[in-house]
Amino acid sequence: MADDPDDVFSRAHHHALAFRRGLDDSPQRPTADYRVMLDRFAQTLPDAGQPGPAVIDDLMARIRPGLAAMVGRRFFGWVMGASHPVGVAADWMVSAFGQNAGNHVASPASAAAEAVTAGWLLELLSLPREASIGFVTGATVANFVCLAAARNAVLRTADWDVEADGLFGAPPITVLIGADAHATVFSALQFLGLGSNRVLRLPTDAQGRIRPAEFAERAKAISGPSIVILQAGQINTGAFDPFAELIPAAKAAGAWVHVDGAFGLWARAAPNYAALTQGIEGADSWATDGHKWLQTPYDLGFAIVRDAEAHRRAMTIAASYLPAVAESERDPSHYVPELSRRARGLPAYAMIRHLGRGGIADMVERHCRLAARLADRLRQVEGIAIANDVVLNQIAVRFGAGLADEAADELTRRTIAALQAGGVAFAGGAQWRGRWIMRLSVISFPTTEADIDRAADAIIAAWRPIRDAN
Ligand SMILES: *Cc1c(COP(=O)(O)O)cnc(C)c1O
Repeated sequence: MADDPDDVFSRAHHHALAFRRGLDDSPQRPTADYRVMLDRFAQTLPDAGQPGPAVIDDLMARIRPGLAAMVGRRFFGWVMGASHPVGVAADWMVSAFGQNAGNHVASPASAAAEAVTAGWLLELLSLPREASIGFVTGATVANFVCLAAARNAVLRTADWDVEADGLFGAPPITVLIGADAHATVFSALQFLGLGSNRVLRLPTDAQGRIRPAEFAERAKAISGPSIVILQAGQINTGAFDPFAELIPAAKAAGAWVHVDGAFGLWARAAPNYAALTQGIEGADSWATDGHKWLQTPYDLGFAIVRDAEAHRRAMTIAASYLPAVAESERDPSHYVPELSRRARGLPAYAMIRHLGRGGIADMVERHCRLAARLADRLRQVEGIAIANDVVLNQIAVRFGAGLADEAADELTRRTIAALQAGGVAFAGGAQWRGRWIMRLSVISFPTTEADIDRAADAIIAAWRPIRDAN
């Protein structure tokens, strides 16, 4: 069954365009739930095959109602970029070329584009130029890779080779982490044998920032191999740990400092917001995403490690059949867990080429300004309170301000459901400090001021009948 590639590729192109063009006039939420979608996909295992174009058409016919407008203009759920068309086109080419981009001998082009993009990222994010970058699937794996390098390096200072000898009998590692760190950082600790619970949780302030005085107190007790985990961009508040105070204290105590900056690290690319990250360059490793603020399609994240050798030692795969490389040559697989891998760097290369340093700065600043505008609109309405300092692009909203906590929780959940049902804009719910909030993240490249005003109107329209009935 040899299809002409033109027939299958052009079907994919046609459907992709139709999907994108239909987004503005369709609900931002999926219109079918998981159960319905299981039914739509359910078929017996096919015995005979089907021509390629028909497979693509059939896929589109089944899938549409179960898709959210995550690339839409008024989708503010979780923290999600909008898969920019330029990134998507580059990603299609990655698949079309079908390169196994693990090493630079087999696929020189993929490795070279990634090496150049790594240099650009360090410049954009103002991080030490000697740092290495692993192109991974997202911030979860980036945190994992960075913390693997950290584990390697701090145990080496205690003369322990964790890559060769494992953790059995190793000196204990002290891990300090903010109480409001992202759940995926705890997963990374779990994967690494460091334990998601065997950590010292540092107390945080109302915005989720580690308190320097308490940190200094704890830091005094650090001895032996230790890792301190900080955060740029708390998921609910957008807050940044006070790096300029914390990092020197952690380094003085001999710790490796890692920063989870999945979206917040991009504040560094925006002159008017870079001050939020002041001192962050003093850390040892940084995790961030491409599929959030850089608007690449899923999935892309960056594991950035100052000590490139520690990074490489933690991830290197040595096998007799792999081309031997000079120490100075960068293989993409040296800095990630995978051997076989797609040329993940190309969409990042394309997005940076497309937007440029200035375009990225403008986009980040525009999103932050729009978030402030949305928060201002909402806080003027009776019964609505903004629960965070809107310092970046994240907004936490409470409905039923002034009522008892449980009552406000209930009204907040109902307002979220009403907004989602309306379909004009999408925001999700989250728990913050034990209470329900509506969480909005302004991080999609197509979002304009008019979209923000429409979203504000939709949220207020969802809230008013709920308020008036109570
Ligand atoms: C999104 C996010 C993560 C996880 O990143 P993935 O891209 O989903 O793997 C980690 N930390 C923070 C602060 C995040 O916002």
